[in-house]
Amino acid sequence: MVNVMYEGTVYDVTNASYPFKIPTPVPREALRLANAGDVTVIRQILTAVVMMNHRRLLTAHPWKCVECQKPATTLQLHPMSYLHLETGPMIYDQPGPTCERRQCQDAHNESHHQMVYELAGTRPGEYKPVEKRN
Ligand SMILES: [Zn+2]
Repeated sequence: MVNVMYEGTVYDVTNASYPFKIPTPVPREALRLANAGDVTVIRQILTAVVMMNHRRLLTAHPWKCVECQKPATTLQLHPMSYLHLETGPMIYDQPGPTCERRQCQDAHNESHHQMVYELAGTRPGEYKPVEKRN
């Protein structure tokens, strides 16, 4: 097994935050396949690592829903793969606490995606692949 660092920060609507950095074991062979570009294996690793840590992050604080401020019952997870890093494979996440209402979960996921698009300088449907130069 190889330890993959699952790190990031949980924030809620009250500005409570919980930075985390949790070494999580992943089979060496799975990591090798991920780094060879196997997208299915990358998704499996991301899912396994976030699910192994979900309860710990959810119970770290009495989180409030980021949309309606009711007590949160779940975390919306947005893991990003940095499994290829030579300095140490990691997964970066900014889990968003929400209540059980679908509306709150969808609203949070939409605003998270908007933030990612803005950081990337694109909008949905506007993604332009980087040109290859020889
Ligand atoms: Zn809510």
